[in-house]
Amino acid sequence: MTKHSTNDRAAWLAGPAAKCSQPPQVPPQAYRLVLLGAPGVGKGTQAQLLVARLGACHLSTGDIFRAAGNLSAGQLSLAMTAALGYMRRGELVPDATVTDLVRERVGCLRCHGGFVLDGYPRTLAQAQSLEEILKSQNLELDAVLDYELPMDEIVARLSGRRTCAKCKAVFHVTGRPPKIAGVCDQCSGHLVQREDDMPQTVKVRMETYQRNTAPLQDYYRKNGLLVSIAASGTPEEIFARTTAALER
Ligand code: AMP
Repeated sequence: MTKHSTNDRAAWLAGPAAKCSQPPQVPPQAYRLVLLGAPGVGKGTQAQLLVARLGACHLSTGDIFRAAGNLSAGQLSLAMTAALGYMRRGELVPDATVTDLVRERVGCLRCHGGFVLDGYPRTLAQAQSLEEILKSQNLELDAVLDYELPMDEIVARLSGRRTCAKCKAVFHVTGRPPKIAGVCDQCSGHLVQREDDMPQTVKVRMETYQRNTAPLQDYYRKNGLLVSIAASGTPEEIFARTTAALER
């Protein structure tokens, strides 16, 4: 597998009227993947490594909401304003809102480079909607990568996670430190702690995951798509397991 440049995901983050800055090079095999795993297992980091390796587009629903959070109130629809309230409390945004957002961005699912869905689907209803949307486009998932990690390690990861305010690259104060503390290696942006990584919000997010998203493991196991990956160790070690699993 070679290394590809990544685009700015404008059509995903801002909606289909926006044009991505750099259309994907068409790789020999376009992968269509879903990443599953509790908050803090490192899905975002693995997604970044995967898209650079595969030439796929990183489709994170959480990034859509965070991008909307940077807009002024007048630029937001009522549904998006409500969605940001759910996100700030660490709760799930209603399925209907999320499905509408993904449906609007169906062009991103048809991306020639393939896609890595991160943070979606998060409920059985969303998984069923995704299946319908993909079917309507004659597309199929290749695999659902499920990252597994014990709870105490998850909490340590979340508390040290830092995100670039500008390009959204993810770092960790000990696990994946930037070259200069507080400064993004990729764009020199300011590194911040995500609002929803604060301790109280993290607790709600973990409970929400157990209740709503963990059942998706069974759903995708039954479909024969689930691939479990141990998420312990460094991002590079986890990535080596990920690529080995994909090559299998
Ligand atoms: P994430 O970065 O994926 O952890 O998402 C951050 C927050 O955005 C979540 O805690 C939810 O409030 C919201 N969110 C993101 N994706 C979804 C989704 N697929 N369904 C419902 N809420 C979501």
